[in-house]
Amino acid sequence: MKFQKTIKSSVSISGIGLHSGKRVSLTLSPARSNSGIRFQRLDSNPSVSIEALVKNVHSTNLATTIAKDGVSVSTIEHLMSALWSMGIDNILCQVDGSELPILDGSALPFVQLIKKAGIKTQRSLKKVLVVKKEIEVKHGDKWAVLKPANDFKIRYTIDFPHPVIGKQTFEYSQATDFVKEIAPCRTFGFLKDVEKMQAMGLALGGSLQNAVVLDDVKALNEEGLRFSNEFVRHKILDAIGDFSLVGYSILGSVELNRAGHELQTKLIHELLSQKGAYVIVAPEESEQEQSIELTEAAYA
Ligand SMILES: [Zn+2]
Repeated sequence: MKFQKTIKSSVSISGIGLHSGKRVSLTLSPARSNSGIRFQRLDSNPSVSIEALVKNVHSTNLATTIAKDGVSVSTIEHLMSALWSMGIDNILCQVDGSELPILDGSALPFVQLIKKAGIKTQRSLKKVLVVKKEIEVKHGDKWAVLKPANDFKIRYTIDFPHPVIGKQTFEYSQATDFVKEIAPCRTFGFLKDVEKMQAMGLALGGSLQNAVVLDDVKALNEEGLRFSNEFVRHKILDAIGDFSLVGYSILGSVELNRAGHELQTKLIHELLSQKGAYVIVAPEESEQEQSIELTEAAYA
């Protein structure tokens, strides 16, 4: 039996948004059992609390954006990936802009931030989504499949016709050390696309400080790659962030072939909409949460 977790204290970090190029601050605060992961925009009035759930996914173009009542938060996937992998179920994420800071383009700064806050085990049990039936979604030669399994696994294959990338496959399982093997892997982009995106007002904060940038033959970052297959590892990082939007731990095996946020989100929608495709195992509450140090103000 696993118990739900939150963080021990509030922590903040700031940096620039990848697409807006604007400076933003993010504060993570403890939240009570069964309240889930919520995002709040401090620059919107009235303030809206957006649950980090697939039903609130508004856009998957270039990044995962959630929205509610006309208020959105973008590029949540790297933080979501860190939260899921560190077992955090309940947390309030407050941001003073439309997008989370991109930091170094990986999930490592978020992992370090959560470690700095400390992790607190709560008294309610984690709920688990058990996959009961195989689900598949396709788009051309891209596909995503989810199958019943005894633990959570992701096998990802990418294939880019580029000398530094090519075909890469990585399998993530409960045995993978997320902090060492996945969290440090940065987002990546091609110089020719970056120039096009910037002309459209996107990726304005993109730089060699927060992404691996490739020209036609090589990575332009002086420090080189963190792993020779950093690219597919980052895709796993993103996929974990997307699957965390189910809102539960998952017992299921995912296989992704050149998928991306759109197909991953579609797979989750398909799973949740098909009758008999899953069950939620909700263990009896052993004890009522008596959360002591949290005040109602944290959920306003
Ligand atoms: Zn990413």
